[in-house]
Amino acid sequence: MAKDKKLVEQITSMEEDFAQWYTDVVKKAELIDYTSVKGCMVIKPAGYAIWENIQSLLDHRFKETGVQNVYLPLFIPESLLRKESELVQGFAPEVAWVTQGGEEPLQERLCVRPTSETLFSDFYKNDVHSYRDLPKNYNQWCSVVRWEKTTRPFLRSREFLWQEGHTVHATKEESEARTQLMLNVYADFAEEDMAIPVVRGQKTEKEKFAGAVATYTIEALMHDGQALQCGPSHNFGDKFARAYGIQFTDKDNQLKYAYQTSWGMTTRMIGAMIMVHGDDSGLVIPPRIAPVQVMVIPIQQKKEGVLEAATKIAEELADHGIRTRLDDSDKSPGWKFSEQEMRGIPIRVEMGPKDLEAGKAVLVRRDTRAKVEVNLNEIAQAAADLLNTIQHDMLEKARAHQIAHTYTATSKEEFEKISSTEHGFFRAMWCGDRACEDKIKDDYGITSRCIPFAQEKVSDVCVCCGKPAKHLVYWGRAY
Ligand SMILES: [Zn+2]
Repeated sequence: MAKDKKLVEQITSMEEDFAQWYTDVVKKAELIDYTSVKGCMVIKPAGYAIWENIQSLLDHRFKETGVQNVYLPLFIPESLLRKESELVQGFAPEVAWVTQGGEEPLQERLCVRPTSETLFSDFYKNDVHSYRDLPKNYNQWCSVVRWEKTTRPFLRSREFLWQEGHTVHATKEESEARTQLMLNVYADFAEEDMAIPVVRGQKTEKEKFAGAVATYTIEALMHDGQALQCGPSHNFGDKFARAYGIQFTDKDNQLKYAYQTSWGMTTRMIGAMIMVHGDDSGLVIPPRIAPVQVMVIPIQQKKEGVLEAATKIAEELADHGIRTRLDDSDKSPGWKFSEQEMRGIPIRVEMGPKDLEAGKAVLVRRDTRAKVEVNLNEIAQAAADLLNTIQHDMLEKARAHQIAHTYTATSKEEFEKISSTEHGFFRAMWCGDRACEDKIKDDYGITSRCIPFAQEKVSDVCVCCGKPAKHLVYWGRAY
């Protein structure tokens, strides 16, 4: 048994050291490996399969709203990047440059895209002429490069995978509607598919995307009480159109500037999934995005009939559309159990000679470890129902954690006390002044996460300066 438990013992406990626990899990569950390129990782099959499920579910949601996929170049000429000054300033510290092609120095430096607003704008300039050409709701799946100083697998890496949607519209109202629509697509995806509850809101001027008129965001709370920005959606108004010259002839024959949006979700969601759902035995993956939903583990598989029966169960579950694997390796059942738990597979089926005799098998939930005995002739339906239950319960458990770690402060004293003793979201009123936001960051290491759409007046004054308050803000320490 000591040998069986070894796999789990290699993970640091969450309570002891959350950061080390996270690093242990991504390694032991074989999601990633480090490489000789600093700040860049290999995403291994177990990690990439999760990303593929995220991609396909998101892509489906995008297409339901009329989005089409395209692909634009990896490189951006320096002169093109410099056309919009706010964007340049925002990204300058973390841009990687190509200065040489083969043996020849380049006439003009090329930056490796940190994001593609500039290229999309340059493209739309030539592609949009009339109101009949609008809207264009384009998205690309690609990788981008940001030269981060400190990196962590999935949360912050120099190259990461994402999708970036870029749309162009005839009116301000349309671009605003698209910005909000995509935020809601992200929020629904996070909650329904990833079982991660989110707070929807708007970023403050200080925290919004460089060059945006407004940035909307969904914010999630990790198990350790730190916040994570999950999917921002930006409205650019006609700012980029003016900088890049995207004009069209409207119905009234007038030449007008177009309105744009952009929105992106990244492999960071895998980090969010790990930190919201994981436990001391490893990953816990929500069924909808789990590459393997059920692992069938035969017990005493050398006994007559056991392996055959287990194989039959696996085939039947697969026939019912459940992503199933059979572990018929010669490792001990205990080792197989802890490996299945480490990998976060939502259900394992335990099946031994006695079960076979009784015409039964045992389903074990990864999230709660609860066991339920089912008749073999009902196993497919029972597993399908249980996957739905797990998906639902994981969201509710995460929601309960978020609610339990959301604190409201009505005065400066309360804000100071709560933020120094608790970890979570801090709800407090703000006057709207950048100076107070800066001071809160300097004094407590806390940033504004968002101005939630669901506003509430919890007190009359700003928790920093005591002047009349304008907004309720969610504050927190963030990854
Ligand atoms: Zn204030």
